[in-house]
Amino acid sequence: SSLLAAVEMAPRDPILGLNEQYAADTRPTKVNLGVGVYYDDEGRVPLLRAVRKAEIARIEAAAARGYLPIEGIAAYNQAVQKLLLGNDAALLDSGRLVTVQALGGTGALKVGADFLKRLTPDAKVAISDPSWENHRALFEGAGFEVVSYPYYDPATHGVKFDEMLAALRAMPAYTVVVLHACCHNPTGVDLSAEQWKQVVAVVKERGLTPFLDIAYQGFGDGIDADAAAVRLFADAGITTFISSSFSKSFSLYGERVGALTVIAGDGDEAKRTLSQLKRVVRTNYSNPPTHGGTVVSMVLNDPALRKEWEDELAEMRDRIRLMRSQLVEKLAASGAKQSFDFVKAQRGMFSYSGLTSAQVDRLREEHGIYAVGTGRICVAALNSRNIDNVAKAIAAVL
Ligand code: PLP
Repeated sequence: SSLLAAVEMAPRDPILGLNEQYAADTRPTKVNLGVGVYYDDEGRVPLLRAVRKAEIARIEAAAARGYLPIEGIAAYNQAVQKLLLGNDAALLDSGRLVTVQALGGTGALKVGADFLKRLTPDAKVAISDPSWENHRALFEGAGFEVVSYPYYDPATHGVKFDEMLAALRAMPAYTVVVLHACCHNPTGVDLSAEQWKQVVAVVKERGLTPFLDIAYQGFGDGIDADAAAVRLFADAGITTFISSSFSKSFSLYGERVGALTVIAGDGDEAKRTLSQLKRVVRTNYSNPPTHGGTVVSMVLNDPALRKEWEDELAEMRDRIRLMRSQLVEKLAASGAKQSFDFVKAQRGMFSYSGLTSAQVDRLREEHGIYAVGTGRICVAALNSRNIDNVAKAIAAVL
C-alpha cells in the first residue's frame, strides 16, 4: 500500500477554521474579531507610508538579490538591538549582543529553541497559562517538554502574580521561561514595572533562562516603554534570549521580518553563540530573505522615514486605545450591567473579554460576530463603523 496511507489528518488550527466560517457568512454586518492582525479604521491591513517610500527607493536603486549573510543584514541587526535596548545602551558596544535576522518572531523563536535544545537538552520550557497558541507546539517541536506557569486570573482580569512567582521559584536551573515582554497574547494583561523587577530577581536567583517574546513593541505604551522588561533583564546581567518581530509594528506580516537577539556574558561567549546560531540557520533555511529586512533597515536608519514610521506606529497604538475606551463606553450605554473597565487597562491588540464560550457561540450565531472560544477578541479589528453593533451584540448576549 501507499507510503502515505498511514498519514493521519493533523488537528485543524481553530482560528483558521473560524476565518473560513466567517468568509462563508453572508450577513453584511458580520465582524471578525478572531483575527491576529491590525486593521485600520477602514478595516484594511495598512501598508505604512514609510514602508511604501522605502520600497519605492529600493526598486529605484535596482539592487541585485544575492544571498544575504547567514545572520542577515548587519544594519538591520544593529537597528534591532537599538530598538530593544535603547539608542544609548552601554550594551550596544559591549560585544555581548548577538542578533540574527529571522523569519518573523516565529522564526526567531524556532532558531532560539533549536539552539537551546542543543545547549540544555534536559531543560523544560515554561510558558504562561494561557499563551500564544504556537508557543507550546513550537517548543515541543524542537524537542522540549513544555509546562505552563500560572498567569491570567479570570476572577480579577489580572495576573495571578503570587502563584506565578512561586512557580518560577520552584523551577530547576536552566528552565527556559518564555515571557511576553509586552502586550500579552491572548489576554492583553501585562505585568507592572514592580512585578517585572520581582520576576527578574527570581530568574536571576534560580538561574533560569529567560526567553522574552516581543511581537508588539510600540503597540502598548510606546517603543521604549514597551521594551522596559527587556531592558530590566539586560541591566541585571542575565543571559537572555529575545525574539522580536516587525510583523505588527511595520504591518509586514507576509514578509517575515523578525530577529533573535541573545545577551551573552562576554564578547567571547557572544562569538561562539553566533557561530552556533548560524549553524542552526544554515541547516534550516540557509539565510534570510532580503526584502523585508532591507525595508525595515532603511526605515529605521533614515531619520525622516524613521520619524514617519514612529508617527504611524503611534496612530495604530492610539486607534487601538480609542477602540478600547469606546467599547467600554458603548457596552455601558448598551445596558451591560457589569463593568468592562479592565479592557482599558489591557495592552496591545488583544483582549480577554471575559465572554464565555457559550456567549461567543451566541455572538456568532445570532449576530455574525466572530471571536475565539476563549473570549479573546482582537480590539484592532474594531472600527468606527462596526463598534456600535459589536457593543450592542455583546450586551445582548451577556
Ligand atoms: N509571539 C507572539 C506572542 C505573537 O502573538 C506572534 C504573532 O501573532 C508571534 C510571536 C509571531 O509573530 P510573526 O508573525 O512575526 O512570526
